[in-house]
Amino acid sequence: MSLATASAYPTLLSPLQVGRHRLRNRAIMGSMHTRLELLDRAIERQVAFYAERAKGGVALIITGGFSPNLDGRIDEDAPALMDSAHAAELRPITAAVHHHGAKILLQILHAGRYAKVAQPVGPSSIPSPINKRGPRPLDDAEIESTIDDFVRCAELAAEAGFDGVEIMGSEGYLLNQFAVVRTNDRTDRWGGSVENRHRLAVEIVRRTRERLGADFLIMYRISAIDLVEGGAAPDEIAALARAVEAAGADILNTGIGWHEARIPTIAYVVPRAAFRFAPARVQRAVAIPVVASNRINTPELAETILASGDAAMVSMARPFLADPAFVRKAADGRADQINTCIACNQACLDYIFTDRPATCLVNPQAGRELEFAALPPAGAAKRIAVVGAGAAGMACAVAAAERGHRVALFEAEDDIGGQLNWARAVPGKQEFDELMRYFRRRLELLGVELRVGASADLETLRHGGFDRVVVSTGVRPRIPAIDGIDHPSVITYPELLSGRRTAGRRVAVIGAGGIGFDVAEYLLHDDQREIEPTEAVRQFHAEWGVDPSDRSAGGLRAQAPAQPRREVTLLQRKPEKPGRTLGVSTGWALKLGLARQQVRMLSGCHYERIDDAGLHLTVNGEPRTLEVDHVIICAGQESERSLHAQLIDAGVPADLIGGADVAEELDALRAIDQGTRLAWSF
Ligand code: NAP
Ligand code: SF4
Repeated sequence: MSLATASAYPTLLSPLQVGRHRLRNRAIMGSMHTRLELLDRAIERQVAFYAERAKGGVALIITGGFSPNLDGRIDEDAPALMDSAHAAELRPITAAVHHHGAKILLQILHAGRYAKVAQPVGPSSIPSPINKRGPRPLDDAEIESTIDDFVRCAELAAEAGFDGVEIMGSEGYLLNQFAVVRTNDRTDRWGGSVENRHRLAVEIVRRTRERLGADFLIMYRISAIDLVEGGAAPDEIAALARAVEAAGADILNTGIGWHEARIPTIAYVVPRAAFRFAPARVQRAVAIPVVASNRINTPELAETILASGDAAMVSMARPFLADPAFVRKAADGRADQINTCIACNQACLDYIFTDRPATCLVNPQAGRELEFAALPPAGAAKRIAVVGAGAAGMACAVAAAERGHRVALFEAEDDIGGQLNWARAVPGKQEFDELMRYFRRRLELLGVELRVGASADLETLRHGGFDRVVVSTGVRPRIPAIDGIDHPSVITYPELLSGRRTAGRRVAVIGAGGIGFDVAEYLLHDDQREIEPTEAVRQFHAEWGVDPSDRSAGGLRAQAPAQPRREVTLLQRKPEKPGRTLGVSTGWALKLGLARQQVRMLSGCHYERIDDAGLHLTVNGEPRTLEVDHVIICAGQESERSLHAQLIDAGVPADLIGGADVAEELDALRAIDQGTRLAWSF
């Protein structure tokens, strides 16, 4: 029996003929900007990064975008592939991927009016809401030379050993801008009729095929739903798909939503596979394979989509940052050991948007393969005690055990997880369950001795025969000094999120950091955590105004009116707008969602007193009373270090990690990174 038919994922693991290429399974690692190309030893880093993913079993890898010319770069730092010398530099990357049996495409991306360059260009002068520099319309000769640049870029990709190219036509970039009336008001042969608006994409594909021949794999990434006013209607999208197919594309990848869309498309607030209807529509329009993407992060889901015929392949980008061996583990019957992408965006997109190289919250080695490979091998097996099984402690215990040490993990609570248990209680953050599943399974398989419900005391640690003691005792909520803070209406966020206490209808939240926002979400949707997946998708579409029917241009419809479950007021002392510390790529959606639910946000607060009448405060000096049933405290955390202090006093050396080390701005990203790195030093 073949590997594919023997497994739980027969369709996902079955090969597929695409053009003249046989792909070993149906999984694609989608294009991601990593910024690795901007670091020292850039090629070596990319070789290590892509080789690791190819080794992990994925069939096809697509690089981050390369512009075909200087105008099309996303920003001044972004790569453009314009000469043979550069192509030669890329050869080690393609060779490494091929060595591990995968194929690789170079993505050609012209950003058009999104380009953060001195003078962006586009079909028209219509400006983009997310680029303060307005575009200059390309003239006919410039459009012709842009086509030449795409074809030349594809030739250079072939020179560099790529199996083909992905021509980027979605996400609101140049080719997408030409395709729709929102951004194209031309009256020449590149605008007006549907056929004219599609001409640029079609000509690029046609001339690339002509120049590069039949063996060269051409993938076109079509926008399967634009999610913007003036976007394409489903019949136009189907027409473009057919035209690109006729022009010579071997396969269609799909993109969901423009970058300027005000609807989240990949963040954790998007239910899994919420947009699968859009690629399914494209697949029905053409005979060539179509690829589904966005919020697909498990082999089960990939298999369901593929087996239904909604798509012929699935593209996952972030899941391969989280676990390079995703496909291999699925094939080996070890899907329960996949380190699942939790769609947090914290270390991938948010890093890229703040000019840092991408890595991954759940896998600190992602993008840092060279750095970890250069660390010295583990010394002789040691006996390690890790005290506290939150994110930092679990990561440290797993990494230490993986390096061959014998580890005992102590947790005072009845279960492991620490602060992650509060995160996973927040509606929309159920993906944290996957992280807990991963840690549990790794701890079990690695034989980590788990002592839950047991505080590790000084004597146990001193006389337990441990070579190293790691203290990851976490944090306790900061309780602000406000008159009446012990009033029965006051609830701490752990009390609320653990379900130990519930809140009434009118609620004030003190503290508008990440946890204050999460608590507001919880208060508005705490009845929806166990909601069934199809219902979650239906509600998401209704709430954000996504139209899955064939009717509307851009895939938009009116948002369903909100019916807030509670009256929530989110408060902070700082005078600035709340939410400034939220993730760049997720915070805007969170804020929009809460605004829709009529959450009030007050800055410049000074808390006076809490009593039976509610919360008394001044807001920018004005006295107010919020008549609320409950006041939830989300005022940050303080490190819990009492055990560490005892150890040090007793002369027992101990490492301090996670929130116990630094409580300020603690998050799972820093905790997992720090725990992992410490274990690599043993
Ligand atoms: P945080 O981001 O530091 O926010 C604490 C909030 O409490 C602030 O609004 C602060 O604002 C207020 N505060 C601090 N001291 C106070 C005091 N003595 N009295 C009254 N208010 C006080 O901490 P957090 O919300 O607990 O989050 C912890 C970490 O988890 C952060 O790093 C956060 O980024 C991360 N996290 C992120 C997300 C997300 O991005 N979605 C979600 C959850 C957690 P004022 O000082 O202005 O009052
Ligand atoms: Fe996924 Fe978060 Fe890792 Fe990005 S940082 S790949 S979203 S788990």
